[in-house]
Amino acid sequence: MRAVVCVPGGTELTELPDPRPAPDGVVVEVAACGLCGSDVHAVERGHTTEGQVLGHEFGGTVVEVGRDVEGWRVGQAVAVDPLGSCGRCRECRRRLPFRCAALPNLGLTAPGGYAEYAAVPAAQLVALPDQVPPEWGAHAEPLAVATRAVALAGVGPGDTVLVLGVGTIGLNAVIALRAAGVETVVGAGRSAGRRRAAARAGADIVIDTRAVSLAQHVEETGRPFDAVLECSGSPGTVAESMAVLAPGGTCVEVALSGEAAAVPLGPLVGAGLTLTGSCAFTRADFTAAVAHVTTGDPRVTGLVSERVALADVPDALVRLRQPEDLVRVLAVPGA
Ligand SMILES: [Zn+2]
Ligand SMILES: [Zn+2]
Repeated sequence: MRAVVCVPGGTELTELPDPRPAPDGVVVEVAACGLCGSDVHAVERGHTTEGQVLGHEFGGTVVEVGRDVEGWRVGQAVAVDPLGSCGRCRECRRRLPFRCAALPNLGLTAPGGYAEYAAVPAAQLVALPDQVPPEWGAHAEPLAVATRAVALAGVGPGDTVLVLGVGTIGLNAVIALRAAGVETVVGAGRSAGRRRAAARAGADIVIDTRAVSLAQHVEETGRPFDAVLECSGSPGTVAESMAVLAPGGTCVEVALSGEAAAVPLGPLVGAGLTLTGSCAFTRADFTAAVAHVTTGDPRVTGLVSERVALADVPDALVRLRQPEDLVRVLAVPGA
C-alpha cells in the first residue's frame, strides 16, 4: 500500500506491506485523515521516529476482519478512535485514556491514517450509519477534543465563552459550545480567513486579536468571560485569558505549548479562578462527537478547506506550519 512515513527532516510517500488484521482487530481502508497541528509540529520539531506513519483523525470502511472479531463486517463505515485504552488503570479511571500505557495509540505509537489502509483494534471502532460518507469519520476526533475541553470549562446556558485561537480545534470548540447551549460564543484569532470560519462555525462575535486586545474587548462590552478555551498556544495568552475571566471563571488550556506561562496568582486565588489543561478525550466524548458528525451538521463538514492526495501530504504538512487562512486539510488516499 501507499503510505506517508516520517523520514529525517520531514515525511515522504512510500510503499509499505498491506497491514493484516490482529485476531481482535480489523483493517480499515482510509477514506480521509485530517492533518492535525500536532503532526505538523512533531514533524517540524523532529519529534518523530523514522518509518512512523502519523495521522490520528480518520474514518473509512472495514475491508478485513480478524478471526476473533464479532459484530463488525466488511463494508461497514467507521470512525476510528485512535486512543487505545484499557478502561481500568488509574489514568483511564481519571478520564486520561491518552495516558494509558496498556495499548498503542494509532498515528502515534502505532501506524495511523496517512496510508491507504490501517490495522485497527475492533474496540476502537465506532460505526457510522449506512447513509453517512466514511470521510465524515475523520471529523470526529477534533470535535471530541473540543467536547472534552468544553466539559472541563463547565459552561452552559447563560454563559459567555471566549475561544482564543480559531484553528481546527478552536473552530470545533465553537461548534461544541453552541451544542452545549452557551449563550454567547466569542472567537478570537489573527487570520482573516480563520475568523470568517469562526463566524460560519457559529461564533456570535469574532475579535481580530491583531487589532483589539481581549482586555479592550471586555472593557468595551462590560462582560468578562465565564470561561476561556485557550487554543492558540501563543506566548502570553494564559495570563491574558485569566485577566478577562469573571470571578469563578475557568481557563482551559487546550493547545500543546512548551511555554512556561506566567500565571497571575492574585486573581487565581482572589477571584476563585480555575486554570486547567485539556488533552484528547474519553471514549464517551468520541462517541458523542460521532453522533454529532452523523447529523450532517454543515458547520462540521464546512471546516474542510482542502483535500489532498497522499503524495501531497508531505507538502501540506509543511504548508500548515504557516496556515494563514487554511483550516482543515484532509488526506484522501483514494484521490
Ligand atoms: Zn489531532
Ligand atoms: Zn488504561
